[in-house]
Amino acid sequence: MKMKATLIVITGPSGVGKQSVIKTLRQMMDKEGISHTFSVSSTTRQPRPGEVGGVDYHFRTLRDFEEMVSWQQFLEHAKVHDNYYGTEIAPIQQSLDCGESVILDIDVQGATTVRQVARDRNMPLIDLFIAPPFPEIEILRRRLQGRGTDPEHVIEKRLRNATGELARKDEFTHVVINDELQGAAEQCLRHVKACLFA
Ligand code: 5GP
Repeated sequence: MKMKATLIVITGPSGVGKQSVIKTLRQMMDKEGISHTFSVSSTTRQPRPGEVGGVDYHFRTLRDFEEMVSWQQFLEHAKVHDNYYGTEIAPIQQSLDCGESVILDIDVQGATTVRQVARDRNMPLIDLFIAPPFPEIEILRRRLQGRGTDPEHVIEKRLRNATGELARKDEFTHVVINDELQGAAEQCLRHVKACLFA
């Protein structure tokens, strides 16, 4: 059956486990021979220990980031928890032209923008909101603290933003609760396959 190259937008609050879900989902897609790639975002955030430039993010200075904005190199860009993040258009278009779907890990504002742009440009898109199980904020707090990568004031800011993001989950086509990683990734895979092979 023919597969249509699609933007696969994965969104949800900070700490919900989007990166782990995406990693597992990608392994599943590889096993099923579903051709895809991951959109490496640009950010002005400082790298965390272990993060690799060009793999996890393209780490940019604010000046470089602003220049990319002025050259309209981003499909979307947003300020998220005090730093800038953006999705470059060129590599995405290149992958789609080669028949590869592209997975995006972006925040709720970015996901909303991408949906609008994709609609205007007639690009196939599926969006999935990854939500924590109840009690939602408490679970996010535990996960962010357990991750140990951000100071307490940054965690508090991310949790404040999470309340607004969770309130918007029904705007997205699919909501997947990440209470167990394998199960959450399998659900995402089912939705993705249903879209790609429709
Ligand atoms: P973190 O700093 O924890 O890596 O990411 C913070 C938030 O920014 C996450 O919710 C992540 O999904 C989001 N994010 C990562 N890349 C992008 C991007 O290119 N655009 C937007 N709008 N959000 C992004």
